Amino acid sequence: MKRAFNFNAGPAALPEAVLAKAEKEMMNYQGSGMAVMELSHRSKEFEEINDRTKKLLSKLLDIPADYEILFLQGGASLQFSMIPMNLLESGSTADYVLTGTWSEKAYEEALKIGKAEVAASSKEKSYKSIPTIHEINLKDDAAYLHITTNNTIFGTQWHSIPDGLSVPLIADMSSDILSRPLTISSYGLIYAGAQKNLGPSGVTVVIIHKDLLKRSGKNLPAMLNYQVHATSKSLYNTPPTLSVYFLMLVLEWAESLGGVTELEKLNKKKAGLLYDAIDNSDGFYKGHAEKDSRSLMNVTFTLENDDLTTSFLHEAAETGFIGLAGHRSVGGCRASIYNAVPLDHVEKLANFMNSFRQRN
Ligand SMILES: *Cc1c(COP(=O)(O)O)cnc(C)c1O
Repeated sequence: MKRAFNFNAGPAALPEAVLAKAEKEMMNYQGSGMAVMELSHRSKEFEEINDRTKKLLSKLLDIPADYEILFLQGGASLQFSMIPMNLLESGSTADYVLTGTWSEKAYEEALKIGKAEVAASSKEKSYKSIPTIHEINLKDDAAYLHITTNNTIFGTQWHSIPDGLSVPLIADMSSDILSRPLTISSYGLIYAGAQKNLGPSGVTVVIIHKDLLKRSGKNLPAMLNYQVHATSKSLYNTPPTLSVYFLMLVLEWAESLGGVTELEKLNKKKAGLLYDAIDNSDGFYKGHAEKDSRSLMNVTFTLENDDLTTSFLHEAAETGFIGLAGHRSVGGCRASIYNAVPLDHVEKLANFMNSFRQRN
């Protein structure tokens, strides 16, 4: 069977082993005579899936006991609203670092709920870089500081995370969670839509320090209240059972590869192949991100002119590469090389970039 060379930004490639296991278990999950999506979310089988998924994530990311793991719906985008609804108490201000489109959206949603300010921004530098830690104008009494650890559209990533802050650090990790080791205790809350690095769309992971749960106001709608979801172990209403099951399979796969330390090594190797193709091209390919802010997950570049970019994308598509066009808001090219994208697919793309350059 021929699998596509899938460089989609999200939903994105899933590990082949995960798809094969899901296929095998499809008609009869663990002798139940049912598919996972036919199980009651109150059944013993599903509760085991829910618990096991949490335990795997906790182990892989080394999550301390004073954090709660939630599986929610509404994507990372709903978190843009839920975070200020739960954590931005009236009278206080939230600080946001703008490093791309998604952090702008998070900031705009916060403004609808309460007071928010821009603590740093690389917008004037076309989002080519991440502000340094001393460029962040953080208020001591801010409700929290929000960052986006990987900027999916511009192809930049935070390589050193502000640590020991006086306020909780909140991070959108939708496009780089599980790609490298983390120090969870540096964060108050981490969130990620699953469809880039964790599984299929439909489930959003939230990792929240238990102290922050106390901020959720009693008058919040139940579905938007972190405390409600924590108390009910993410089973307040019908969860996205199939997505949670796939998340479990992806985490099992990550563990079988040796966990985040091994994944990071592999990710550095994959990204290195594409950045080498850019850096060794005598300017034929131009990387968007500044070198010290480059993302290991989304490699963004352009060619000399629009015609050449178009012809590169056209030929790449004919050769079987999927998803290489840049985000509709910025154009150019983008290769998303999340955990599940195999090394040999990235090697094939690097070879294609080199041969296209020689031919043009
Ligand atoms: C994709 C993405 C989002 C949006 O995720 P949805 O699940 O579609 O809401 C938010 N933030 C980042 C960093 C992303 O990559």
